[in-house]
Amino acid sequence: MTFQELSRYFEEIEKTASRLSITHLLADLFTKLNPEELQSTVYLLQGRVVPLYEKIEFGMAEKMVSRSVLHALQLDSVDFAKQLGQIGDLGKTTEHFKREIISFEEKPLPVYEVYKELYRMATLNGAGSQDTKMKILAHLISQLDALACRYIVRIPIGAMRLGFSDMTVLDAYSWMVGGDKQYRPLIEKAYHVRPDLGHIGRLIKEEGIQALEAIQPTLFTPIIMMRAERLSSAEEIIEKIGECIIEPKYDGFRLQVHYRRATGEVKLFSRNLEEVSEMYPDLIEGVRKEVNANEIIFEGEALGFDPNARTFLPFQETVQRKRKYGIEEKAKEIPLKIFAFEMLYLDGKSYLTIPCSERRRTMEEYLVQKGDVFEDTVLIAPDIVSGDAKQVELFFDDAITKGLEGVIAKKKDGIYQPGARGWNWIKFKRSYSSKIEDTIDCLVMGYDWGKGKRAEFGIGAFLVGLYDEDNDIFKTVAKIGTGLTDEEWRELKRLCDEQITDSKPALYEVDKQMAVDVWVAPFLVVEIKADEITRSPVHTAGRIMKASKSGNALEVDVPGYALRFPRLKHFRYDKRPQDVTTLKEIEAIKK
Ligand code: AMP
Repeated sequence: MTFQELSRYFEEIEKTASRLSITHLLADLFTKLNPEELQSTVYLLQGRVVPLYEKIEFGMAEKMVSRSVLHALQLDSVDFAKQLGQIGDLGKTTEHFKREIISFEEKPLPVYEVYKELYRMATLNGAGSQDTKMKILAHLISQLDALACRYIVRIPIGAMRLGFSDMTVLDAYSWMVGGDKQYRPLIEKAYHVRPDLGHIGRLIKEEGIQALEAIQPTLFTPIIMMRAERLSSAEEIIEKIGECIIEPKYDGFRLQVHYRRATGEVKLFSRNLEEVSEMYPDLIEGVRKEVNANEIIFEGEALGFDPNARTFLPFQETVQRKRKYGIEEKAKEIPLKIFAFEMLYLDGKSYLTIPCSERRRTMEEYLVQKGDVFEDTVLIAPDIVSGDAKQVELFFDDAITKGLEGVIAKKKDGIYQPGARGWNWIKFKRSYSSKIEDTIDCLVMGYDWGKGKRAEFGIGAFLVGLYDEDNDIFKTVAKIGTGLTDEEWRELKRLCDEQITDSKPALYEVDKQMAVDVWVAPFLVVEIKADEITRSPVHTAGRIMKASKSGNALEVDVPGYALRFPRLKHFRYDKRPQDVTTLKEIEAIKK
């Protein structure tokens, strides 16, 4: 397939508002591609040349891409800037100019050729690389037709935003193979172990859908992290899973560590699968010194440590270690320790389906410790095994006294379920005993411009939603207009403005009355505190519609969930859209 033909699909997808239709379009497109083309196309659809967790970025700002366009089309920069101001989108502006120009260089370019060039652009670095990138892009622009140019400039500036999620691609693979959703569970399971959409698509094409059953953890490819259910008392926990392993719940940030002794290579991944190795040189060194395995993947919670007081630091201080600059100095000021709590892979063998107690025992053998909090970097979360609610309660109280969040109970024979929230892990936090104390993670879906003083910021209120897992759709639960500092409003606007979409993304279900001035692609997660969960007919989370008496229209049967007095607690840069609170969870909290 040529990139020009592929661009017709991009355009169709961009114009389509229904998720199901996008799925069909993708399935139709995937059917026409060979394995290699499919792999490249899936990355390009996301505006990338590698899976999301790989740290290869184009490193090209809009200005530089504009320079490529000017160079390729020999345009006057003032003219161009004027049009760009009017159209407001670099892709469409480039397309506009390209339509007016007869280019003798235009020719069909195979998808793979274009992908190769984009890959080269993304991986170039060092002296002169910016100039070379600019020239490669300019050459592509001169060869491609107008529509293809719209997309070729959007890819390097991260503006593809075609409005679908990884889940939509998984569904499309199932449609491609079976003409319906029947293979989605199998595909999703493989994706959770190896979240590389391109690799999965290629494997299905090359070896058939059954090949996915054999997918195993792969060193340096992050595994989607397992999540915990929640309960609000020790009795309920014991009733649910019987005798279990109880560990303290540390309030730092979760890391998945990948290590190969032979090369000394260590990679650290955050919860949203971003590679964050460069941020934590002290942890990397600790892993190299203290981990006694040839190859291992383990998870733990990183916590800041105060070497003077010999105590662990609260989340607000630990989180200062998440930074791009001044890493070394901060590492001295706030060294990190990691409390390992899971092992997923060891020396060529997957541990995902090995029972929890055995995983833990083996992990303890391989993470060598001097047993001194002061000296060790890699620590193991202490545990007790208990079937006695009173004992669990005591362990919980002890954790709270030490300033921790609570405890996590783990089913003794539970397997590690990548990407799943299941009863194999149950979190028990103090706050769950009171509804009002709970916080809820929401997705930012868009914002209104605002009036009065707020008009200064250009943002007056923002719409947030929860995740409907069964349908892969985000549904609204609150519009928030108060409780942010000036600084937070500015930050929110700045973040949102990087991800504006032309119209409401297909993944959002929003009542007309809740429509916003500016829609934002799904990317930003916020932690929201509310006084209560109530019901409202204008929110779509949990809302059920029925046919009205007159027959044609729909009317509200059961109103949706709504948050009372919602306010922002934190921006959760570490969470992915699909990690926000789900409808099922809010139903459980409400009970
Ligand atoms: P959630 O991610 O909301 O399901 O809650 C579980 C989170 O608690 C994990 O993502 C970890 O970051 C954190 N955590 C802290 N201590 C532990 C532990 N001992 N075992 C598992 N998770 C832990």
